[in-house]
Amino acid sequence: MMKTRAFGAQSATSPLAQMAIDRREPLARDVEIDILYCGVCHSDLHFARNEWGMTVYPVVPGHEILGRVTRVGPEVSTFRVGDLAAVGCLVDSCRTCSSCERGLEQFCLGGPVFSYNGPDKHSGGMTFGGYSERIVADEAFTLKVPTGLDPARAAPLLCAGITTYSPLRKWGAGKGRKVGVVGLGGLGHMGIKFARAFGAHTVLFTTSEGKAADGRRLGADEVVISKDADAMGRHAGSFDMILDTVSADHDVNAYLSLLKLDATLVMVGAPPSPQAVSVFSLLMPRRQLAGSLIGGIAETQEMLDFCGQHGIVCDIELIRMDQINVAYERMLRSDVKYRFVIDMASLKG
Ligand code: NAP
Ligand code: ZN
Ligand code: ZN
Repeated sequence: MMKTRAFGAQSATSPLAQMAIDRREPLARDVEIDILYCGVCHSDLHFARNEWGMTVYPVVPGHEILGRVTRVGPEVSTFRVGDLAAVGCLVDSCRTCSSCERGLEQFCLGGPVFSYNGPDKHSGGMTFGGYSERIVADEAFTLKVPTGLDPARAAPLLCAGITTYSPLRKWGAGKGRKVGVVGLGGLGHMGIKFARAFGAHTVLFTTSEGKAADGRRLGADEVVISKDADAMGRHAGSFDMILDTVSADHDVNAYLSLLKLDATLVMVGAPPSPQAVSVFSLLMPRRQLAGSLIGGIAETQEMLDFCGQHGIVCDIELIRMDQINVAYERMLRSDVKYRFVIDMASLKG
């Protein structure tokens, strides 16, 4: 076991603070990564404060992990010491069930092992995430980082990237399609970039008037201030797909009413409370409500490679580890432009 510096929460009400965790020595197929950068996802905040009611303490959040390989086990074939490598939301799964066979490890029937707050098959305790100086992960769940991408700006691709890329691909965002993205935060700004890159006519819905210019700069063809009922009404019944990234209570029916016949509202944002759906918004004209969870390992690599080819990275604000509690408060105020990323040197220093 290796004593490892980390930052985590001891309870739902305590701020995050420095703590020590144990990491295993690399096993035959493990990659040891010295973490350079870790993105800050709103899910980290939901978990740290037990807003979804499933947190086991202490929790060390962080699942947008990027760093440099420092050691590899003897059977590792795809990584070498010195490579850039990344770990996202998943570190293990059963690898044999029907979901795993389809490359949908996030829906593993045996239960996917998430990078933090998941049952660690090796330690018998819970997994600890990327707010730490190093991680040890199976090479099968370790991603290659395309050369040419700024590593700090690539880190949030591991969750914000794949969580928007996957549903936009599945529901066919592309040329000739009108696609909406709700919320301009970490997920939303990547949703805008991908929808635009796939060739869709891309519309941002935001509650923050001050983000309109950024929305256009990031790739939105149109920006709608969602509090403006007239502006919303002008888009009624016109969308092929809307991707909803909102982290808190909001009116889902307002977006259902903007869909065409057979079009789909895909929820990726995960507000802790149930959201009311008017069935009539679904009946007429025959609309669909769906959800999506991150993406499998192969698709995550595909997304990273796509970003490498197209030069797509996140717009970030680099912070020190000890600024995390302030960053959480700003995230709650929708004041993030557009992803906080922790410079992990600040934890080691
Ligand atoms: P974020 O950076 O905080 O962005 C959320 C955005 O939602 C805000 O910037 C804001 O955008 C909008 N918003 C916030 N409160 C709102 C409210 N009360 N009403 C309307 N809009 C509001 O969060 P994130 O990291 O992108 O994560 C978003 C959600 O996705 C979280 O719930 C997170 O847990 C979840 N998530 C899900 C998955 C998955 O696999 N399904 C993966 C990662 C994250 P505007 O200022 O533009 O309105
Ligand atoms: Zn996330
Ligand atoms: Zn499985």
